[in-house]
Amino acid sequence: MTDKYVTENFITQIIDADLTSGKHTAVVTRFPPEPNGYLHIGHAKSICLNFGVAADYNGTCHLRFDDTNPEKESAEYAQSIKEDVRWLGFDWQTHEYNASDYFQQLYDFAIELINKGLAYVDDQSIEEIRENRGDFNTPGKNSPYRERSVEENLDLFKRMKAGEFDDGSKVLRAKIDMTSGNINMRDPVIYRIRRLHHIHTGDTWCIYPMYDFTHGISDAIEGITHSLCTLEFEDHRPLYDWYLDNISIPNHPQQIEFSRLNLSFTITSKRKLNQLVENNVVDGWDDPRMSTLSGMRRRGYPPAAIREFIKRVGVSKSESVISMTVLEDTLRSHLNKVAPRVMGVLRPLKVVIENYPEDKEEILTGANHPQDDSFGEHEIPFGREIYVEQSDYKENANRKFFRLTEGREVRLRHAYYITCQKAIKNEQGEVVELRCTYDPESRGGTADGRKVKGTIHWVSAKHAKNIEVRLYDRLFNHPKPASLDNFLDAINPDSLTILKDALVEPYLLEADQDVVYQFERNAYFKRDKTHETDQPVFNQVVTMRDSWAKLEENSQ
Ligand code: ATP
Ligand code: MG
Repeated sequence: MTDKYVTENFITQIIDADLTSGKHTAVVTRFPPEPNGYLHIGHAKSICLNFGVAADYNGTCHLRFDDTNPEKESAEYAQSIKEDVRWLGFDWQTHEYNASDYFQQLYDFAIELINKGLAYVDDQSIEEIRENRGDFNTPGKNSPYRERSVEENLDLFKRMKAGEFDDGSKVLRAKIDMTSGNINMRDPVIYRIRRLHHIHTGDTWCIYPMYDFTHGISDAIEGITHSLCTLEFEDHRPLYDWYLDNISIPNHPQQIEFSRLNLSFTITSKRKLNQLVENNVVDGWDDPRMSTLSGMRRRGYPPAAIREFIKRVGVSKSESVISMTVLEDTLRSHLNKVAPRVMGVLRPLKVVIENYPEDKEEILTGANHPQDDSFGEHEIPFGREIYVEQSDYKENANRKFFRLTEGREVRLRHAYYITCQKAIKNEQGEVVELRCTYDPESRGGTADGRKVKGTIHWVSAKHAKNIEVRLYDRLFNHPKPASLDNFLDAINPDSLTILKDALVEPYLLEADQDVVYQFERNAYFKRDKTHETDQPVFNQVVTMRDSWAKLEENSQ
């Protein structure tokens, strides 16, 4: 069971029942993004559910672009969506569609509704329509144009299509019930006039169908069995069913709603993510701090870890905010298993080992993974001058500080014991160098059984490679940025720290540049795609430990 993409939930139970009863013999789902932005972590839930369910049941999942809103859609977005779905590990095979593929059929179905007396052309303005719709407490008012004859409606609708009327001057509406308790059923608009160039149909159409009309019919045309969508569409389900019940189409897919994925400290709205890009808060949709899939890819999140996270979150109908810690913990436990280890010093402090011969060099070895020998090992050069992390030295250290301070001995990972003899300061009083001695008998990290509690990482000064490291913190310093009047007020000013002096052992740059590495004791890092400079750039994927859990607890 554990190799399934989706663990059992109320949707798989419905599918099981449908297969048992013979209502369906195969499962067909669809993922229906609107190409008006880049996909985000919320979409990953829908992708893993739709493609995952299809895969688990040996069914099919279609990728359908919901391209009914020409003003906001672009081919660039559609391309990025395909890249992201593939990256997450899913495949729609030959089943790539656009809602616009069905514009002619949708038009014909609209004609059918008119012929049945179930749709009419309304000359009211959008404002009047809105006003006359009423609200939760007030029933709507019938449009003065509601009783037009079938002939008149057919004539006007055809002329709408032919471009005889101005944008916004007329709409086609379904004739349902202006007093319905469900506002979506109060004669919803089916078509509006919009003279806009469409990414696929160009200037063929000047009338465009609305989402609710398009979506269900597209599902039915494609033979979708289970149309899985988020809870905000629950109130639209009667309309989804009404359209399918009133046109001549054999299939009637079942719409099933589940709750959206909300992640703390994160925005999951393409519109708001777009604002971050437009306002230059981030440097593009794939900025590693973005909750977009392209940002996560660039940052180094493995797709398998994202799938695992979505699986952990599960599928239900209850609204909740998932803690960012859950995502980060999933990343950590995944990376702990798959990331090779290297040593990298982010903020270097020079160490001279006074009793180590000036011209001597040694090649030591380090395991690539402490728990998994199959990762092999690699060579690590050692010499008289090394760099250690600035934070591994403390001038006035108490007895619980097991790292470097004058007179204290520590173990250099994969190398020797060294004892700090003296700290050298510059004119500002800052420590710029440590003078140490080493124990030649302690190679490999053991000597005569004496206790050395601290182990620190290091790199050889002569051999180390300089890299730029980008440390990321959360982009928002509020757990629910979307709940604020202006989510931009919650931008964390310290979300990016650039360190240009970081040093790594040479092996890192010789090894595979496409995997995530653990810089021991520091964090997980992945090489950035950028080649702007000669200096390699590494992005911090996730820290070793969670430093935010407290803040989140306190603010809930
Ligand atoms: P956004 O507000 O970010 O534009 P959307 O729902 O309008 O989101 P679509 O492109 O229409 O974006 O979404 C494609 C599919 O992904 C839809 O079926 C939608 O329900 C689903 N989806 C979007 N956001 C989430 C989320 N946070 N959790 C789960 N599913 C989501
Ligand atoms: Mg949408």
